[in-house]
Amino acid sequence: MPAKNWGNRPWTIEFHAKPQPLPRAVDFAVVGGGFTGLAASAWLKRLAPENSVALLEAGHFGDGASGHTGGMALAESAVGDLPGLGDVLSGYTKILRQLNVNSELQLPGVYELGRSKPLPHSPIRWKDSGELCAVKEVPGGTINPGKVVSGLAAAADRLGVQLFENAGVESFDAGEPLRLHVARSTLLAKKALFATNAFGLELTGWTQRAEACFTIAVATKEISDSARNAMGLGEGKPFYTVDLPYLWGRLLGKQIIFGSGLVHFAGWHEMHALDIAQGEAAELFARLESRIRSLHPALCEIEFTHRWGGPICITRDWRPVFELHPKSPHAVVLGGFSGHGVAQSVYLGAWSAEVLLGKRGLPSWK
Ligand SMILES: Cc1cc2nc3c(=O)[nH]c(=O)nc-3n(C[C@H](O)[C@H](O)[C@H](O)COP(=O)(O)OP(=O)(O)OC[C@H]3O[C@@H](n4cnc5c(N)ncnc54)[C@H](O)[C@@H]3O)c2cc1C
Repeated sequence: MPAKNWGNRPWTIEFHAKPQPLPRAVDFAVVGGGFTGLAASAWLKRLAPENSVALLEAGHFGDGASGHTGGMALAESAVGDLPGLGDVLSGYTKILRQLNVNSELQLPGVYELGRSKPLPHSPIRWKDSGELCAVKEVPGGTINPGKVVSGLAAAADRLGVQLFENAGVESFDAGEPLRLHVARSTLLAKKALFATNAFGLELTGWTQRAEACFTIAVATKEISDSARNAMGLGEGKPFYTVDLPYLWGRLLGKQIIFGSGLVHFAGWHEMHALDIAQGEAAELFARLESRIRSLHPALCEIEFTHRWGGPICITRDWRPVFELHPKSPHAVVLGGFSGHGVAQSVYLGAWSAEVLLGKRGLPSWK
């Protein structure tokens, strides 16, 4: 299989697990080292330090969506509020604070952009299949994804989670205890969380419930303050469109990140071989870059320093999946945030730890 090339991201993930042998048994196993799994494992240890917790990541922390995300922290879910969901952004802020994660979280609000009914004071007026303007302002903001992945992993490590990279779970047997098969070893666990998102859909039983797609982003060269102000981005508010064609973006220092577009697959395994320099992904980048250059005169000759993409797990009804594993009452599955997971992953990751500890129930969002 050709090696994957998902491009270069404008941040780095500093934290790596120290190599150590897999234990024979733990109280809790967490599978997947993205925002969800990292937050859940750290929260488990924070609430119940007497329990042993192992986090198993197939590659490196942040290898999935979390390390490749756009990093817009949004309220609610992809379908809005859900029964009992609570305040995602304030929960997210508290969890990051309690885990001492330096996230560079800023919550100035987010502009929803559209091609009709602009806000009277819309600072944004761009050319993009009509005039694209701010039509509404909603709560939210941005994080630095590299810092959040690294900070959550460091918090988990500090709290005593046993962290494993290059430890992909190939299959598991439901029973008491659960048996997780990792390369040539088997880890026994009383309870487990599967936070594998767009990968391993057979492992979570999501083959009929979710689609694994690939979505892309680019970062511009640094732009001047005057150009940024002329574009209407002086307030530092990220944005996304509420009509089509879709476009989202945010500032990262003096750079602007934009993203749009999906590559579909016959099966999630194909994503491992995707090369952003070839085929459909390369065409998406060419279209996105030409579109950005036409948005505003300040961007007409802009160059791009970073091009990357990552997986996105879109569920049939666009709601997150947060429930018991179909094969075991001792395992929980959580993910499928449908492109809206930056804040939800951590917020619900902490909630899932409380479920595994018997301190809280699961929601009912089917
Ligand atoms: C380009 C892009 C832009 C995005 N922009 C935004 C945004 O601005 N705002 C927003 O809210 N959301 C956004 N998202 C979505 C958001 O990033 C995700 O919802 C979130 O990161 C999901 O986190 P996660 O931990 O559930 O999944 P992931 O980060 O995908 O983590 C899953 C982990 O599980 C590991 N794994 C898989 N299988 C196994 C196995 N068998 N054994 C062990 N480990 C395994 C993977 O290697 C991976 O590290 C974006 C996504 C992309 C790709």
